Amino acid sequence: MHIPTLIERKRDGGVLTDEEIHAVIAAFTRGDMPEYQMSSLAMAIYFRGMTPEETAALTDAMLHSGTMLAWNEHDPMRVDKHSTGGIGDKTSLVLAPLLACDGVWVPMISGRGLGITGGTLDKLESIPGFRTQLTEVEIHQVIDQVGCAMVGQTAGICPADKKLYALRDVTGTVPSIPLITASIMSKKLAEGLNRLVLDVKYGSGAFMKTEEQAHQLAQSMVRVGNALGVRSSVRLSAMNEPTGESAGNALEVAECVRCLKGEGPEDLENIVLDLASAVAVSSRSDLQQMLHRGDAWTKFQQMVALQDGSVDSLEKITSVHRAPIIGELKATSSGVLTRMDAGGIGHVVLELGAGRSKAADPVDFAVGCDQIAKTGTQVQSGDVLLRVHARTKKALTIALDVLPQHIEIV
Ligand code: URA
Repeated sequence: MHIPTLIERKRDGGVLTDEEIHAVIAAFTRGDMPEYQMSSLAMAIYFRGMTPEETAALTDAMLHSGTMLAWNEHDPMRVDKHSTGGIGDKTSLVLAPLLACDGVWVPMISGRGLGITGGTLDKLESIPGFRTQLTEVEIHQVIDQVGCAMVGQTAGICPADKKLYALRDVTGTVPSIPLITASIMSKKLAEGLNRLVLDVKYGSGAFMKTEEQAHQLAQSMVRVGNALGVRSSVRLSAMNEPTGESAGNALEVAECVRCLKGEGPEDLENIVLDLASAVAVSSRSDLQQMLHRGDAWTKFQQMVALQDGSVDSLEKITSVHRAPIIGELKATSSGVLTRMDAGGIGHVVLELGAGRSKAADPVDFAVGCDQIAKTGTQVQSGDVLLRVHARTKKALTIALDVLPQHIEIV
């Protein structure tokens, strides 16, 4: 294999074969292909794209660059969802235990937040003691006992993606549909799934800004999932306002506890049920009954205990992580709330310290926004539109200054 020839072919709009793609990824993972060549190839892919067959081959090669979770023939069906992320997107924490109540297994490998979108691992790590870095043996032990585990990527899974993503992050090659598809799908398929549902969001608070881009990414991921033997489906949705009523790590865990007890909020429960019913055995209404009976809440507590988290702290998580200053943003006029911009609120929550700008940044579990009013509601002047949980008075002042430009009452 002569790598410069492959780079030139892709640069000129040509197609790489399955064997060439596998050989490139194997060489890159071993360290036999220098980063400057991989960066150059990634840029050629960014501009020229890939055919569905090339994208599937790239995903397959990255999947096989490391280990996969191994299952026995008679194990229950494995299912999962992947969300492209959004503001206040906390669905995983409710969905995984709910699906485990359905008798399927959920080996959920998630990521950390970067930029304005939060990460499932950060939310879970706000639970004192909760361990997200489990070995593959420990993942199997937790799933054997409760049917779901929520963990970070293990060292053995998709090393090619770890290396390639780090390179894409600093070479302007992240926003490429084939590269995103291969990156996301290789990690999900390494879970050894039978079914996968993709929650692809678009709008100001999402990775994909337009519905058209989101549709293309969704189509690409579903095609690859199905081509590689995992029944895959998609739910496309707008992310113009935050999901639920909170954004910020511990604040979102508190909201999930409420949802797990069947106490809403309505939009979060609906998203969870829509996604769960795409991969579950039971119907949507049966899943809703399980949620309202508290079955998923019991499962969640069992999983937290098995992953060394403090179950006792779940119902008082906002006291465990309490921001020193809590301020209210009040409506200055009466009317219908027509805008609560997810992207704007995401930036405020990031600035408060709930997210990270660089992968190595620490996150503040306590800060964020809650009691976020939903668009479409009638508000009176003086009503609370949201609360800001801040570390310092200065951070609160800045947040309260900025937020009104992201909110509209007509
Ligand atoms: N998330 C990933 O895991 N990979 C991408 O390429 C983009 C988002």
